[in-house]
Amino acid sequence: MAIDFIAQRQALLELTLEIQRIPAPTGAEATRARWVADALRKLGYSPVEIDAFDNVYACIRGEARRPALLVSAHTDTVFPSATDLSVRHDVINRRIYGPGVGDNSLGVASLLWLGRQFRNLEPPPVDIWLVANSGEEGNGDLRGMRSRGPPRIIVRRQHCD
Ligand SMILES: [Zn+2]
Repeated sequence: MAIDFIAQRQALLELTLEIQRIPAPTGAEATRARWVADALRKLGYSPVEIDAFDNVYACIRGEARRPALLVSAHTDTVFPSATDLSVRHDVINRRIYGPGVGDNSLGVASLLWLGRQFRNLEPPPVDIWLVANSGEEGNGDLRGMRSRGPPRIIVRRQHCD
């Protein structure tokens, strides 16, 4: 099945802005992490796990029992929870400006978009882990990616099951 990227651009944009509206400063990204987990469940992924670091995990089962691929995007932003998250649409130049749109709501939306596409495609050659990681920005110091989460997948749970 071919993917019509242009037709889906608006849907990806709307998903991006839905994520962007959930405050997620580093260290307080749990609400956004739960939202991402729910979105993955709605897409049919099971199990979807959230670890103690607020990393979210789902897995796309692949054809072969070879090392898995991990695709990740961070949920946290540099903006404090009191930040006005309003966005500005520049219709003429076809741009949208707002706190955390590009870093990293679009990344998280793309992760979910990827997950949605794979619901309608043949299984990929290998298992693919979708991971929304936490604590990437500033003092977060990549906490999510450095936690036991992704290494646990890579070392002991590289396959979906
Ligand atoms: Zn970032």
